[in-house]
Amino acid sequence: MLRKRHRVKELEAVLKQAEGKGWIVTGGGDRYFKMKCPCPRKCMKMVNCTPSGANYTRNLIDQLGRATCWKEA
Ligand SMILES: [Zn+2]
Repeated sequence: MLRKRHRVKELEAVLKQAEGKGWIVTGGGDRYFKMKCPCPRKCMKMVNCTPSGANYTRNLIDQLGRATCWKEA
């Protein structure tokens, strides 16, 4: 299934990176994308379609590193 692209280039890059790690990316309507990891913990992260500010991408990656298996894969 073809996924919608994130309109923010930096966040689209994060979604692509996630898919490269085997995460499943869904959603992408008006509100948010949903990222689900492939590990047994089933880590999940929402990505807003309209990021709240300039630091959104960096904060997202920080949160992924802290709260999910992002860095383990
Ligand atoms: Zn995980």
